[in-house]
Amino acid sequence: MKVCYFCGGNIERKKIRHIHQWGDKIIIFENLPVEVCSQCGEKYLSPDTIEMIDKITATAEPKKYARIPVISLP
Ligand SMILES: [Zn+2]
Repeated sequence: MKVCYFCGGNIERKKIRHIHQWGDKIIIFENLPVEVCSQCGEKYLSPDTIEMIDKITATAEPKKYARIPVISLP
């Protein structure tokens, strides 16, 4: 079994909501398959998943949009 690089916790496969930022663009991915540390919550994305995210980010026509508040601290 794989363990977390940071804390040594167990790694679990999960589908999560992932917020991906690319320059000024923010895309929310739902049901993204990742490996997550059950102890510290560190996410591990496989190279295939990262490639898929990059492809989708460049070309996606989303069916759903979310309003995202932006708070700028002084
Ligand atoms: Zn961990």
